[in-house]
Amino acid sequence: MRRIRTSTKLKRMFVMGIILGAAAGILFTILIAYQVLSSDRAEFASANAELTKENESLKEQAMKTQAVENSAELLASDSDDWALALVNEDHPLDTSYAPAEMTEIDTERSVDSRIAEDLQNMMSDGAEQGLSMYVASAYRSYEQQRSVFSSTMQDWIYQGYSPLDAYDETKLSVAVPGTSEHATGLAVDIISSEYEALDDRQGDTEEQKWLMEHCWEYGFILRYPEDKGDVTGIIYEPWHYRYVGKDAAKEITEQGITLEEYLQQ
Ligand SMILES: [Zn+2]
Repeated sequence: MRRIRTSTKLKRMFVMGIILGAAAGILFTILIAYQVLSSDRAEFASANAELTKENESLKEQAMKTQAVENSAELLASDSDDWALALVNEDHPLDTSYAPAEMTEIDTERSVDSRIAEDLQNMMSDGAEQGLSMYVASAYRSYEQQRSVFSSTMQDWIYQGYSPLDAYDETKLSVAVPGTSEHATGLAVDIISSEYEALDDRQGDTEEQKWLMEHCWEYGFILRYPEDKGDVTGIIYEPWHYRYVGKDAAKEITEQGITLEEYLQQ
C-alpha cells in the first residue's frame, strides 16, 4: 500500500512538475518574446522618429528651395510657407504677379489680405502704447515700382550724376523694378509721424524702436537691418517691414539674421 501510495505521489509530483515546467516555459517564452517585441518596438519607434525628422528637414529644405526659386508660385499657393517667398535682386518676382486678394488698410494703400489682420493688430497695439505711425507704402505693382525707380534716378541725374552712376545710386535705396518686395503685398513701409524722413534717424524714433522690438510677434521682420547690406543688397531701412509668418519671424529675430540667411540654413 505504502509503495503504491508513494508511487502515486511520485506520479502526481511528476505530472505537476511537467505542468509547472511547461507553464514556466510558456511564461519564460512570453517574457522573452515580450522583451524582444518591446525592444523591437523601441527600435522601430526611434527609427520612425529619425525618419520623421529626416522627412521634416527634407520638407523644410524643399520649402526653402521653393521659397527661393518660385516666389510667385509659392506666394499664390495654399502652402503654409507662402509668406517665405524670397524677392531680391538675385530673385526677381514674376512681373505679372499680384496678390489674389487685397485689403485696403489706408486710402490707396493695400496689402495681401492674408497679412491684413496681423498688420492692423500691430498698428493698433502700437497706437495703444501712445505711438504715432502710419503705413506710407504697401503693395506696389511692377509699373508703380518702375515709376518710383525712374523718378529717383532722375533726381540723381539732376544732381549731376551720370545715368550709370545715378542707376547705381538709386539701386541702393529703391529696388530695381521686378525685384521689389512691395510687389508681393507682404511688405510695408511704416514711418513715424514725429519724424517722416526716410533715413537712418528714422530708426531712432520711439515708433521704430517699438516696431523693431515687437514686430516679430505679429509675423513681421525688419527686412533690411543695419550692417546687413552685403547680404540683402539693400542699405539699412529702419521703416521697411516684411511679413514672413510668426514662426519664421521669431526665429529670424532671435538669431539676428535676414530672410536670405534664414532660407540658406
Ligand atoms: Zn519698403
